[in-house]
Parts: sequence; C-alpha cells; structure tokens
Amino acid sequence: MVNIILLGPPGAGKGTQAKRLVDERNMVQLSTGDMLREAKTSGTEMGNRVAEVMARGELVTDEIVIGLIEEKITGPAGGGFIFDGFPRTLKQADALGALLTRTGQTLDAVIEMQVDDAALVARITGRFTCGTCGEVYHEVTKPTKAVGVCDVCGSTDLRKRADDNEDALKQRLMEYYKKTSPLIGYYFAKNQLSSVDGLAEMDTVSDAIASVLDKA
Ligand code: AMP
Repeated sequence: MVNIILLGPPGAGKGTQAKRLVDERNMVQLSTGDMLREAKTSGTEMGNRVAEVMARGELVTDEIVIGLIEEKITGPAGGGFIFDGFPRTLKQADALGALLTRTGQTLDAVIEMQVDDAALVARITGRFTCGTCGEVYHEVTKPTKAVGVCDVCGSTDLRKRADDNEDALKQRLMEYYKKTSPLIGYYFAKNQLSSVDGLAEMDTVSDAIASVLDKA
C-alpha cells in the first residue's frame, strides 16, 4: 500500500493518471476538485459559496478542502490514497502530513507531473469528461469513438467544466505558480519528490509513475 500525491498545474494529466491507478492498483482517488464540484451541485451553503470561487479559477479556502479530506480519511484504504489536486498550499501540505500521522499512515511519494505552460492551454480548452464514469477526453487528441457517446460506459452525459476556458485557466495557472508550486521545493527538501514528463505519451507517463511507486 502506498499513499501518493500527484502534483502539477491544471491540465498536467493528474486526473487521467489517477483513474488508471484506481483501475490497475485498486488505489483510492481523492480529488478535492471532484469533491467541490459535487458540493457545488448539492445546493448546500458551502456548495454555493465555492461555486463562484471555482468559476473564477481561484482557490477555495484551506479550511474547506482540509475538512473535505479529513472526512474521507480515517485510516488506510485499498491500495493506498492518490491525492489529486490536494494539497495546493503549504498549509494544506502540513495538514495532510498531520492527518496521515494521526491515522497511522505515511506519505510515500510525491510525483510532480512536468508540462510546459503553452501545452496546458491547448489541453484544457479541448477537455471534456463523462458525467457518468469520469473518463477524460479531448476534442483533438482523444475524441470519443462515436460522437457524443462515452467509449467506456456508453453514457451520453458528456460535459465541459465551467472553469475550462481561457480566462479561468490563466487565473488557475496564476494560483498554481503563486501558491502551489512552492510545494515542489517543500517535498524535495523532505526527500519525497519525484518528477515525470507529463507531456510524454499517456502510457509512458503511466510507466514512469509505476516505477516511482514500485520503489516507494
Ligand atoms: P481541479 O479539479 O483540481 O482542477 O480543481 C478545480 C477547482 O477547485 C480549483 O480551481 C479550485 O477552485 C478548487 N480546488 C480544488 N482543489 C483545491 C484545493 N486543494 N485547494 C483549494 N482549492 C481547490
């Protein structure tokens, strides 16, 4: 069992690789972005508050996301946790460390997915996902085989995220560089950082991640 963080800017491929690890290693994906999108549709007070912040591409408060993660972790589960899109600030990173210690666990690897910024814009603005099974597609590089139908589960509920547009993406990138990228140095200093080329073929990225996990 290994607990890992997938770290990288929006569009680096964290969600795609996390889904593979869930299928192949029975790991448990914890995506704070997915949790927040769920909360958004729930119509709760918290959901309404975060909806606007997310649409602008800003980060929601540390308290909210730390609370969401705390609810999900009481102890070890499956093949280990994949933290996808969390932590995004140093405060969240400290909170995660404390939570893992409190529940008798360790953080085994932090995998930085490196991509260049120009590639992100193209990746993000063409992205869409299946609302039923979560499969991720791209209008140019990975369209569905049949127009409007998910290859994996056959659903026709294909969606584009509200924040996958150029303006919100610029803000998300700014938030990444200001608040999240310091985590690269933080985990390097803790000897936990590994980096993979996020622009390689999807299978090559998966292999690189697998080799980090097998050494962890
Ligand atoms: P993602 O799906 O990971 O790209 O996240 C989508 C949006 O949810 C982000 O742009 C933030 O507004 C919010 N969000 C997700 N995870 C976090 C986090 N760990 N801390 C703060 N905001 C987050």
